[in-house]
Amino acid sequence: MRPLVEVRDLTLDFETEAGVAQVLDRVSFSIAEGEVFGLVGETGCGKTVTALTILRLLPDNARIRGGSITFLGEELLTKPEEEMNRIRGIRISMVFQDPGTSLNPVYPVGEQIAQVVRAHEGIEREPAKARAIELFRRVGLADPESLVRRYPHELSGGMQQRVMISMALACRPKLLIADEPTTAVDVTIQAQILELLRELRQEFRLSVLLITHNLGIVAEMCDRIGVMYAGTVAEVAHTKDLFREPLHPYTQALLKALPRADARGHPLASIPGMVPSLLDPPSGCRFHPRCAFAFEACPKHRPELLEHRPAHRASCLLYEKVSG
Ligand code: SF4
Repeated sequence: MRPLVEVRDLTLDFETEAGVAQVLDRVSFSIAEGEVFGLVGETGCGKTVTALTILRLLPDNARIRGGSITFLGEELLTKPEEEMNRIRGIRISMVFQDPGTSLNPVYPVGEQIAQVVRAHEGIEREPAKARAIELFRRVGLADPESLVRRYPHELSGGMQQRVMISMALACRPKLLIADEPTTAVDVTIQAQILELLRELRQEFRLSVLLITHNLGIVAEMCDRIGVMYAGTVAEVAHTKDLFREPLHPYTQALLKALPRADARGHPLASIPGMVPSLLDPPSGCRFHPRCAFAFEACPKHRPELLEHRPAHRASCLLYEKVSG
């Protein structure tokens, strides 16, 4: 499979009143056509910022310091804004965490989808409305003909998320970025939304960048996974390799911290220490203050994200033969 998206050495800061936050440090991964790629990590590790950089939807205080993002071989970071406007929505679209805040409260939901279709495809009002109805039906919304006239506040969280997904698919994008798409809905609806994404991936031949802090969701949904820690990529591997034989100590610790049905009565493992401040991240390997395997070289050398097994990359000096 050829890469649809390639993020290479993406380095980005936020200029804040408290100083410069080094938010992404040489982030690299690729997403193949038709692949579901999961980005996983704790809150604040840089997953969402990475996705927003792909779409070039960064806040004004963001500074891209280096790296590249290509989409079907074309560099996105230097594209004129007009061209990015065409790419957003048509080629790449995004579903956000909280549909309640992403939908416009003053327009009926069908109208919002029809507006997206009309803006991108220049079709008339009636065919755009018919497309909205067809999309609502496809994402499993009952009675789509009357639903198009309803306002966001009249819908449940699960229905709102289905509306957001149908809006994201309205122009048949190649890449769907789903940022914690099930966080705002309850568990039964979560399973339905994930199942829907799985079906749509096949039907629309979509690539999906799925952002989540939930390892259970990536295990179920993703072909490959990138694990992020404090603005860096710790590990990238096929899902089964990552769960069977994680290479990076952070991934190993995350997996040990997962609750298991056969461990009743035993305390849950946790990762000691705190996620570091990106205003002053640890030197060398950013994970070193919390790593059970840290050695003299770890605070001095920054590990590279290298392939240590076939199609399995990790950034850890344990595998680089670096000594103190
Ligand atoms: Fe741990 Fe050192 Fe590897 Fe970082 S480089 S994960 S501190 S062993």
